[in-house]
Amino acid sequence: MVPTLACVVVLVPPAAATVARHRRVAARHAHPLAQRKATHGTAAGGGRDAARGASEPALVHVHVRKGDTLWALLAAHGIAPAEARSWLAAAAPVYDLHSLHPRRGLTLRFDRATRALDALRYEIDDRSLLVLERTPEGIHATRTGLPYFTEVKGTAGRIEHGLREDVIHAGAPPRVVAQLADIFGWELDLDHDLRPGDEFRVLYESTWQAGETRSEPGTVLGAEIVAANRAVTGIFFEDADGRSGYYRPGGEALGRDVLRYPVEFTEITSEFTSRRRHPILHLFRPHLGVDFAAPLGTPVRAVAAGMITFAGWARQLGRCVRIDHVGALSSAYGHLSRIAAAVMPGTTVAQGQVIGYVGASGLATGPHLHFALYRDGEYVDPLAQMAAAQPRIPEQERRDFERVEASVERQLAALPLAGGTPTVSRSDATVRPE
Ligand SMILES: [Zn+2]
Repeated sequence: MVPTLACVVVLVPPAAATVARHRRVAARHAHPLAQRKATHGTAAGGGRDAARGASEPALVHVHVRKGDTLWALLAAHGIAPAEARSWLAAAAPVYDLHSLHPRRGLTLRFDRATRALDALRYEIDDRSLLVLERTPEGIHATRTGLPYFTEVKGTAGRIEHGLREDVIHAGAPPRVVAQLADIFGWELDLDHDLRPGDEFRVLYESTWQAGETRSEPGTVLGAEIVAANRAVTGIFFEDADGRSGYYRPGGEALGRDVLRYPVEFTEITSEFTSRRRHPILHLFRPHLGVDFAAPLGTPVRAVAAGMITFAGWARQLGRCVRIDHVGALSSAYGHLSRIAAAVMPGTTVAQGQVIGYVGASGLATGPHLHFALYRDGEYVDPLAQMAAAQPRIPEQERRDFERVEASVERQLAALPLAGGTPTVSRSDATVRPE
């Protein structure tokens, strides 16, 4: 049952006079961030998928790329500079976190209730790990052996009900479904384009921590969806500098500059776009936006890289964030319960970065995200936008990509459609005692 959501659209498009300025600002800030991929830090998926409301902490796996600093990565997850300093200082006697290496794993653990960072783990090298934990006495730092190993799992099946239900029923975790939605979101309308009998195949990493009874889903390495006899394949590729993305066979990018979903697909309970009667004001208003119903506190992601132009209270929209992007695009996110700490006017954000959390602030009867997109100050339908494709595989990476492509396609083809989650391969790393 879908509760009636109140959402008055008072999101007035930016006045014409300010459009030129917006465009200039967006262009100036666009360059480095525009290249950032959705997969950065699994921000594309967020990693906070376990049972909502449970007291267990939320783990976020951050993917480190060339040039990343701990400051920027922590800021991207809502950690204020003063707090970031205390984590760096605590690490210093064990390891200098100022120098992060591309492709090394960084895991942040947040208290689910307070959203405070309570632990941080970083892979120093192939065999050791820096572990930082918040204790009543302060932040405690240790160096230990790598307490986990990663295996590759595969799941395939046919659509019976919908991607969400069927992929989970076949044995893959919800986080994998959320990643599939980010990979294929612009190729297929996952709620409407899939029909019974269509097929899916997915390969994903799964990490076992020592002493844990279940594994943590990681990056989707490859996936294929066959809808109406048309196959779309996405292959994960990461270069030596840690830049990564999803590509079609042949090397064309599958990813786009704008994420289709500002909230993880698996958290969305319903979508509204139509003009409708407002339940509080009892009058019809044009609805310039898409409302995504999602549980209170669900992370809200910037759909594209850009610069924050507004973060605060905007009357009926309640707590609201606005972002300027390249190409005269801007986006707005309303009814937030909270705005992420590092999000303030003038700061830049990466695509997929968490900017706030779903709420019901302002004129709203239930928790939902009001999301709107503008081009040249004019409202555009976010779900109908065709965002620009990201660059294809560069020529110098082509050989490496072809190797990965061949391996992923072979493994996808070998998955039985009957379901189940066979382990496809296992990394050489074994569980090392501390
Ligand atoms: Zn709305």
